[in-house]
Amino acid sequence: MSTPSAAPSAGPTSRVFPRLGPELFDALRHARPRRIVLQVPAGLVPGAHDLAARLRAETGARVVVAARPCFGACDFPSPGEAPNADAAVVLGHAPIPNVPLPRSTYFVEMRESGGDPGALAATVDRAGLPHRLGVVASVQHLDLVSPLSEALTRTGRLVRVGTGDRRLAYPGQALGCNYTGAEAIAPDVDAFLFVGTGRFHPIGLAYAVDRPVWSLDPLRNVLEPPIDRARLVARRQLTVAQARDARRWGILVSTFAGQNRTPTALALQERARAHGREAEILLFDRLDPHDLEGRGLDAYVNTACPRIALDDGELYPRPILTPPEFLMALGESPLEPYRFDTYH
Ligand code: SF4
Repeated sequence: MSTPSAAPSAGPTSRVFPRLGPELFDALRHARPRRIVLQVPAGLVPGAHDLAARLRAETGARVVVAARPCFGACDFPSPGEAPNADAAVVLGHAPIPNVPLPRSTYFVEMRESGGDPGALAATVDRAGLPHRLGVVASVQHLDLVSPLSEALTRTGRLVRVGTGDRRLAYPGQALGCNYTGAEAIAPDVDAFLFVGTGRFHPIGLAYAVDRPVWSLDPLRNVLEPPIDRARLVARRQLTVAQARDARRWGILVSTFAGQNRTPTALALQERARAHGREAEILLFDRLDPHDLEGRGLDAYVNTACPRIALDDGELYPRPILTPPEFLMALGESPLEPYRFDTYH
């Protein structure tokens, strides 16, 4: 779908590459950084040190590997983690266009070239998916969106691919905190087809759009039926109900550039006080459930990554809500329709 030269930029100091290769090494040699920090997501850790050695050999720069697990596209190495690095190589993520970068950053999206559009469309057709389909993909499989959409159209389907807001780099892209591309086309489709692996995005998409979300693993050509959105939402509504009478709230604010919503936190603090509740702001970079133990607070609202509350909420000692859920708990918003905490 996109090439390095056509790909969007997250700022004047970012470059985007579909995969590891000579173009990346040429660009780094040209830029001549003195020290590079390399960041890889958990699944690519086994190859990180070989890649560091290769970067060292290809560029002559000093290379350090960021050991901290990387949560997502918003979570590139901070200035504090790699204070002397003048360039970062980030694997497995697209840039988030509206998040400022601390240093020159080379995003290597690790695009997959596999997947037979005709065979995948035939699988979808055999399963009898609805006529009007929205297609969404993880960054790794975005190159399949156009050919798969064409193949699905040949099966008689009406296919839509949405363009999201400025937190998304590409049309059709899934980001765990932002499905605005899908939301834009939801009124025009009967179901969504997520192209990628794992349950993280199908679950996020199911929270964001009130449509069945089918998942298609493009390399194995395996189609998974929709997850139960009603059950997901009911579980969150129960958490909201448990927090409704909380008097003392903690408002969680991340210091990561890509997860910092201080203005939202301050606005929520005002809303809490307007309802006669106490609300204290708590700062963190990496949130550990143990950090919230023994505080004497009744419940929390998390303004950082929305998936902390939605996916990991049961790890925390008290109810932990997203900002829209917090407004539901205060009685300012209705429980239905459920609102996903889109990070814009
Ligand atoms: S805020 Fe969460 S979902 Fe969004 S990019 Fe960051 S880690 Fe991923």
